Amino acid sequence: MMEITVVRGDITTQRVDAVVNAANRAMRGGGGVDGAIHRAGGPAVLADCVARFPRGLDTGAAGWTTAGEMPARWVIHVVGPNYTAGERDRSLLLSCYTRALEVADELGASSVAFPLVSAGVYGWPKDDAIAAALETLRASATEVTEARIVAFDAATYDDVLAATRS
Ligand code: ADP
Repeated sequence: MMEITVVRGDITTQRVDAVVNAANRAMRGGGGVDGAIHRAGGPAVLADCVARFPRGLDTGAAGWTTAGEMPARWVIHVVGPNYTAGERDRSLLLSCYTRALEVADELGASSVAFPLVSAGVYGWPKDDAIAAALETLRASATEVTEARIVAFDAATYDDVLAATRS
């Protein structure tokens, strides 16, 4: 059984086996959680992205790299749909969570921290981004024992916690 936990904080400092990055298709760094992960992990993260994903990743897909200097061992990069740019296929957002857990199972990662994919710069409406995360994590068959949703701000933390109780 996988437990879904919620914390408020910075995903880069989480002591888990793997942290999930809301990356973009190029996988060469960016803003938001992506920028934070590359800064905290150091240059090894980008070097591994370049080496392992020369053509980047498709929207809805997942792939792993080292976590460099972060406490986690791996980064699982996913590319959420860019709602603001008109990518509104919800199955692509669900796929990010499903595929991330598949990659975690390949790696043997038992604890995985997730940001709210697409809920920042990509503009997915927050309530639905939370609902999408929870429904997908709850429905996934996986060996992962803890899926930790990391909310960056207090309001999002309250919203995620309320959603887990409904
Ligand atoms: P996207 O481009 O997929 O929308 P963002 O990084 O812009 O990704 O935002 C995704 C979510 O991650 C937002 O809710 C944002 O507030 C949050 N976030 C930003 N930085 C961090 C961080 N260091 N740790 C955890 N969550 C973060």
